[in-house]
Amino acid sequence: MTRGDFGPSSNFIRDIIEEDLRTGRYGGRVHTRFPPEPNGYLHIGHAKSICLNFGLAADYGGQCNLRFDDTNPTKEEVEYVESIKEDVRWLGFDWGDREFYASDYFEQLYQYAVQLIKAGKAYVCDLSADEIREYRGTLTEPGKESPYRDRSIEENLDLFERMRAGEFEEGSRVLRAKIDMASPNVVMRDPVMYRIIRATHHRTGDKWCIYPMYDFAHCLSDSIEGITHSICTLEFENNRALYDWFLDRLGVYHPQQIEFARLNLSHTVLSKRKLRRLVEEGYVDGWDDPRMPTIAGIRRRGYTPEAIRDFCERIGVAKANSIVDIALLEHCLRDDLNKRAPRVMAVLRPLRLVIDNYPEGQVEWFDAVNNPEDPGMGTRKLPFSRVLYVEREDFREDPPRKWFRLAPGREVRLKHAYLVTCMRVVKDERTGEVVELHCTYDPATRGGEAPDGRKVRGALHWVSAAHALDAEVRLYDRLFVKADPEDVPEGQDFTVNLNPNSLEVLTGCKVEPSLAEARPGDRYQFLRLGYFCVDPDSADGRLVFNRTVGLRDTWAKIERSLEKKGG
Ligand code: ATP
Ligand code: MG
Repeated sequence: MTRGDFGPSSNFIRDIIEEDLRTGRYGGRVHTRFPPEPNGYLHIGHAKSICLNFGLAADYGGQCNLRFDDTNPTKEEVEYVESIKEDVRWLGFDWGDREFYASDYFEQLYQYAVQLIKAGKAYVCDLSADEIREYRGTLTEPGKESPYRDRSIEENLDLFERMRAGEFEEGSRVLRAKIDMASPNVVMRDPVMYRIIRATHHRTGDKWCIYPMYDFAHCLSDSIEGITHSICTLEFENNRALYDWFLDRLGVYHPQQIEFARLNLSHTVLSKRKLRRLVEEGYVDGWDDPRMPTIAGIRRRGYTPEAIRDFCERIGVAKANSIVDIALLEHCLRDDLNKRAPRVMAVLRPLRLVIDNYPEGQVEWFDAVNNPEDPGMGTRKLPFSRVLYVEREDFREDPPRKWFRLAPGREVRLKHAYLVTCMRVVKDERTGEVVELHCTYDPATRGGEAPDGRKVRGALHWVSAAHALDAEVRLYDRLFVKADPEDVPEGQDFTVNLNPNSLEVLTGCKVEPSLAEARPGDRYQFLRLGYFCVDPDSADGRLVFNRTVGLRDTWAKIERSLEKKGG
């Protein structure tokens, strides 16, 4: 495991770049790009690609473009363009004035296609989509040549121009590269370059009714922008031959494509198509639902960009696909929040606690440290009074062995305040439920220390009933019950593995009064409970918190056991 602390760790892509810099292959330039298709919101897998592309450019004094790969008008929307820009910016990266769109190159791409037709390297084909698929062959059988493959250059030029002019129906004709129907690489069997789509494009409107395919548009967009290292995920390994073929046949500037393993994360899906299903079929409350692995979702959940960048650095870049445990992402998050999140007291499931010997009407204000990890974060005032709320879970009428919290006759420390002893329990006569605890406090223990040094092991969080604010708290759990959501019985899909308990909403929670200042996006550690973030639903005195992550770090445990094994 590599550590962010020691600066960027080397990887095979850095090795390639450093070799290219040494040999002067691109005149000492490093120019990368992040090329999202605006057909959905970005997810944590995209964050890996963003950190990699922008990170490499920054480390080698180069540049990184943001390029929208907007070649399919049926699936793309302005909403997605805007969200992508917001997310990249939030992650901490800046594309300067280099915001590009593949659609800006449509005219030039059309001219390149004409050039290939003139060179006898492309032809208009009238086979249907199904026929093209049939003719393509399989991994073990060669394909069959299209009957339209040997059209004359003149006829191809004429038909292609008329395709552009809108003379033909959608699906009736395509432009194909003339390569090799017997190629062992199926990608090279006369791939489609252009298809007819009658849809309004979010940027070019109705100007075009033919649209370039990814493989044709992508390499040429890279070339036009002077990209040096075109980094993509492993699924495109076979497409590299085609990437090179187009650029070589056209004789234009030639970047190099480098593939790396995409991020897969346990307990979640990372595919825009599947994430869109979760949104559209109402399994979640939108792209920014805090349970979603989208950047918008984890931002709302309370993740920090620093934690995500640290995670991307730690997982590194490799050539082999693997699944990263989501516990590692949570570990990076805790690491960061531990440093920056102020501690506050909040009671999620309140139980009234009355201190019988504390003067009625008296209020003491204790100084509480905001973050023991960072004295610079100062202190705040915390009110204490006769009636408090404590966590229902911190009381047991009939405690098990080694119980150090409240129980009849037991003394505990109320953090920052006093030692109190539980004297009496009030129950609901009908249900038998405990509704109130009566305690006495020891006035000699102000600040929470006993002058006689007597041992009190339990330290509880609490809030003053008269001063506390009401809050709603949303607790999240993993979105999927299985580490691999795709592991499903025959004939079913990943939605059967959705966790029915991924969201629990608690109302009537009580939080300390300093949180009156809290604003959407602010992050806190609720003492003993975890990290929480103010949700944008908070408004007009209504306070809503999302639990970002609990305190228990399962990854640190895994790491320690690996270290012990010398792993
Ligand atoms: P999805 O599979 O989620 O639909 P995509 O590849 O279709 O993703 P694009 O918008 O084309 O989405 O992706 C933009 C860039 O992000 C591409 O360079 C792609 O390789 C990269 N990318 C997408 N998913 C991941 C991932 N899980 N890990 C690393 N990089 C990714
Ligand atoms: Mg893609």
